[in-house]
Amino acid sequence: MDNRNQQVLLKRRPTGVPTTADFDIVDSPIPDPRDGEALVRGIYLSLDPYMRGRISGARSYAKPVDVGAVMEGRVVGQIARSRDLRFQEGDYVFGGYGWQLYSAVPADGLVKLDPAEAPMSTALGVLGMPGLTAYVGLNDIGRPQPGETVVVSAASGAVGAVAGQLAKRAGARVIGVAGGPEKCHYVEEEMRFDACIDHRSTNLGSALDAVCSNGVDVYWENVGGDVQQAVFPRLNDFGRIVMCGMVSEYNDLEPRPGPNLMSAVRKRLKIQGFIVSDQWQRLGEYRAMAAPLVRSGELKYREHIVDGLNRAPEAFIGLLGGRNFGKLLVRLGDDPTRSA
Ligand code: NDP
Repeated sequence: MDNRNQQVLLKRRPTGVPTTADFDIVDSPIPDPRDGEALVRGIYLSLDPYMRGRISGARSYAKPVDVGAVMEGRVVGQIARSRDLRFQEGDYVFGGYGWQLYSAVPADGLVKLDPAEAPMSTALGVLGMPGLTAYVGLNDIGRPQPGETVVVSAASGAVGAVAGQLAKRAGARVIGVAGGPEKCHYVEEEMRFDACIDHRSTNLGSALDAVCSNGVDVYWENVGGDVQQAVFPRLNDFGRIVMCGMVSEYNDLEPRPGPNLMSAVRKRLKIQGFIVSDQWQRLGEYRAMAAPLVRSGELKYREHIVDGLNRAPEAFIGLLGGRNFGKLLVRLGDDPTRSA
């Protein structure tokens, strides 16, 4: 065990695009667990777009991180010491305890992981919150029917990749939108979407017309901005928009004007937002469906792993500009299940 803990604190609330100066990286003592707690050594930290909302002062669905506090985030780790009978040293766990190497946390908030079920890092991506997000949004809102056309933005990312693959399994034609030829190649060749449009180099409208000649029945909204502007007029009657997120606008200082909604009346569109944390109770149901598909290779996933907690701020800033390729994780320490 290292002698010191390391933590990333929110130094100040960013204005617009965050910078590394908005964060402080500090050394601190490794905490002692109290009765009912366990000391967890972090292995992987998940970096997610929702964290941009947590460091802003704006009112939202969840409490922001206080200035000076440890950044919030979900972690997969290993028990280093336990003062709770349910956990033993060496157990692998998942919990939400922030951007730090070690944390003493109430055992009630930890979930044991079985490394034989799937690689442990997947508990933060394809088999974790992003995967569940795709499952909930698709089943409850998008509900693609065989033969319908589904467009998924940020298609190579953690949520988009699962949403598109589940839509394919439902029998839909799935078109991805992603940034750059490498991501588009992956979406088409590895994840087997029917096509993928590069939003950084193409005229989005004409590219959508070329591959969606029958219009769009379901739009999975991950990014907002220009992609939303291009897809919205191409929705069919009774189209559904799964409002999952609008990451391209998270650093904006002012909200952008939205599309004129009269066509939602004429076309009888359904536009629905959702927050996955309202549906945590479905994680077991989702994992029971998805874990065998991950093991068999039918549900593909890609991880973008950055080494070292000190690189977390820079990696997080890159996520908001599309510099990640796959589920963004920070490796905090050795993963004994991977090196074995
Ligand atoms: P991703 O792994 O998809 O990473 C974000 C991606 O967004 C980038 O890789 C990039 O992909 C795209 N992006 C970033 N900036 C821009 C930009 N300026 N213009 C266009 N695209 C951009 O992240 P997640 O899968 O974790 O999250 C995807 C979305 O889902 C986010 O909006 C997030 O907030 C939302 N979400 C919502 C949840 C809910 O409960 N409603 C839960 C979890 C996530 P590319 O280069 O391909 O454009």
